[in-house]
Amino acid sequence: MITFSYDYVKPKSLDEALEILDQENVYPILGGTDLIVKMRASVIKPRTVIDLKGIDELFNVDFSKEKGLTFGAGIKLNVLIEEFDYVKEYYPTLFQGIRVVGGYQTRNRGTVVGNLCNASPASDTAPALLTYNAELNIISKKGERTVKITEFFKGPGKTVLEKGEIVKSVHIPFEGESIGRYYKISRIKAVDLATIGMALTVIDPNGKREIRVALASVAPTPIRIFEAEEFIKGKELTMENVEQFAQIIQDSVNPITDARGTAEYRKRMAKILPIKLLREMNMIKEGL
Ligand SMILES: Cc1cc2nc3c(=O)[nH]c(=O)nc-3n(C[C@H](O)[C@H](O)[C@H](O)COP(=O)(O)OP(=O)(O)OC[C@H]3O[C@@H](n4cnc5c(N)ncnc54)[C@H](O)[C@@H]3O)c2cc1C
Repeated sequence: MITFSYDYVKPKSLDEALEILDQENVYPILGGTDLIVKMRASVIKPRTVIDLKGIDELFNVDFSKEKGLTFGAGIKLNVLIEEFDYVKEYYPTLFQGIRVVGGYQTRNRGTVVGNLCNASPASDTAPALLTYNAELNIISKKGERTVKITEFFKGPGKTVLEKGEIVKSVHIPFEGESIGRYYKISRIKAVDLATIGMALTVIDPNGKREIRVALASVAPTPIRIFEAEEFIKGKELTMENVEQFAQIIQDSVNPITDARGTAEYRKRMAKILPIKLLREMNMIKEGL
């Protein structure tokens, strides 16, 4: 139950929304699967909740190999993976990350943008987006700016968004064919947040072969491990090299112990998972 009163507005245009967002203590809402939970717990007590779902402009989706993929903030998780085949084909790691957010009902309401703006270290969509070099298009009354996803998160529940700003859309460049995995370990197989989540994407696997890796639930924000990527660049994927790659990943994470798992367990998995995922993708040159 929400124990305080608040105003609810649903503007039809972005201009109208930006005027309202400029006022004090206004929270945007998309699916509400994070915001309403926090309002029920009185963690957030908005004076005004502004529903962005009446703004047509936030529902655009566009893809081409030249321009990449851009989708509006209003696009639901399930809509993105069920109605646009190119998400599965060209951004397979993202497809897998979205598919494990909550249960079907949650994905029918929730959005990628809500998932990112909630800034949970356990976000299931952020790791894949980190590996695909996504950018967030941000708008306010003052104008527009673009922020790389690597710079978007500032801490648990904290982003670079300033008062009056909202995320309008997400852009993901198309950098070539890719293969990938998002693997989530949680306490139960049903709906649960990640004890640890790992996105491993290989861009152009038969050509330049660029391996990218990002994790959830091992640091105050979802993180990409550039040092490990740099190490493995151009190297043969022998077991020895892959183990060193995995070691760098393990050394780069700084998890905590909480209700979902211990820091030690998360650290251990941070080394095991990259080997498992590369092996699943038949990338490792195992001994004869
Ligand atoms: C039962 C359940 C299970 C869940 N399981 C998972 C899970 O497995 N993995 C996972 O990652 N998450 C999970 N979640 C969390 C949640 O469903 C996701 O984070 C979802 O994607 C949030 O999207 P939303 O549209 O509902 O966000 P909302 O709740 O509408 O918004 C989230 C936050 O972002 C802000 N916001 C919304 N739109 C904008 C915008 N355009 N610009 C700036 N700020 C904005 C809101 O003010 C709010 O603070 C779960 C939630 C529930 C209730």
